[in-house]
Amino acid sequence: MKNTRRNFLQKISIASALVPFSNLKTVANIENNVQETLGEKYEGKKLRVVLCGLGSYATNQLLPGLKQSQMCELVGIVTGTPAKKEAWMAKHNLLEKNCYNYENFDSIKDNPDVDAVYIVLPNSMHAPFTIRAAKAGKHVMCEKPMSMNVKEAKEMIAVCKANNVSLSIGYRLHYEPFTNEVMRLAKDKDFGKVKFVDGKFAWKNRDLKAWRMNYPLSGGGAFMDVGIYCINASRYATGEEPISVTAQAFKTEPEIYRDIEETYQWQLTFPSGAIAHGMSSYAFNAHKLAVHYENGNLEMQPAYDYGPIKGNTSKGPMDFPHTHHQTLMLDGIADSILNNKPFKISGEEGLKDQIIMEAIVKAVKTGKSVKIKYS
Ligand code: NDP
Repeated sequence: MKNTRRNFLQKISIASALVPFSNLKTVANIENNVQETLGEKYEGKKLRVVLCGLGSYATNQLLPGLKQSQMCELVGIVTGTPAKKEAWMAKHNLLEKNCYNYENFDSIKDNPDVDAVYIVLPNSMHAPFTIRAAKAGKHVMCEKPMSMNVKEAKEMIAVCKANNVSLSIGYRLHYEPFTNEVMRLAKDKDFGKVKFVDGKFAWKNRDLKAWRMNYPLSGGGAFMDVGIYCINASRYATGEEPISVTAQAFKTEPEIYRDIEETYQWQLTFPSGAIAHGMSSYAFNAHKLAVHYENGNLEMQPAYDYGPIKGNTSKGPMDFPHTHHQTLMLDGIADSILNNKPFKISGEEGLKDQIIMEAIVKAVKTGKSVKIKYS
């Protein structure tokens, strides 16, 4: 990309998106070497991270995020595939003593050169590996959905607390500038109160053999996988927690989505009177967030994937930089851990979504409105 004025302005706005990280003046951008442009480099202690589960998301998103991160460093792996262990050790200069499999993972407790474990496994393995990592005294970063159910989520939080380690859930959008603007509008009310939120996330999943199609491993279907983005979005777009829900399930292709959910839609009510509609599916594609305020509207599409995210408000196009979400998130989590700052995407944040998801499933099963209780 040429070094145009727009690129320069983008770099400045990327840097300003980092204001919360007081000691961080730079940010990785997949197109620009911002660090070099701003002439600043983080020289402090880095969080030494082990990636657990070397599948698609770990390899294609979190690995580049760790490489570009200022405050994290990949020091090891946990994998059940011996060939991956050899390949990753060679390619990323990893020491054998920092590489584990699922059986010997607990011995990580004796490894002083690892600070944190990032769990990127099928959903059913999130709770067991979070608990094992926490008992080994390591900080935990865990992918969404944090667990299969509320009970597991509460146990994960309790075990991390008991072992004095942090728990963060991989809600990368909480560090993404377009999404931060949605959150700001809920707080500053430029367009008045939020009246209605509409979130849709669907993708065509035809991979019948993958864990996502296997209920015991996934805990559901599209709803667990991507519906969670719409639930989380309805919370950050309103700045409120929903109090009741009605919901419906549909299968347009029951022969494909035999054991898991295909299409869900739900309606949430919020204390202010705001309403949110959500939809998730594996049968088609949709990536949209719309927020309707008293005096204006916002629409983002795509709103949840790795970007570039695009959006408009009643005031015109949303003009924010395209950032590498995982890099920003990893630096944000590391900043919280290393500098004792509040966590944006804590286990408690994940637990709220799990509580809402469980209420939605109950609403589908009963066909009735379900009150959402957080304690
Ligand atoms: P993949 O199937 O690509 O990778 C999962 C990895 O887990 C495998 O490669 C394997 O790694 C390991 N694994 C261990 N046991 C099993 C098993 N029984 N079946 C399958 N894999 C197993 O999944 P994704 O990377 O797409 O998803 C992993 C997690 O990341 C999920 O929780 C998902 O929700 C989340 N995710 C989050 C995204 C985000 O934007 N935040 C985007 C995509 C996914 P190995 O060979 O090393 O043992």
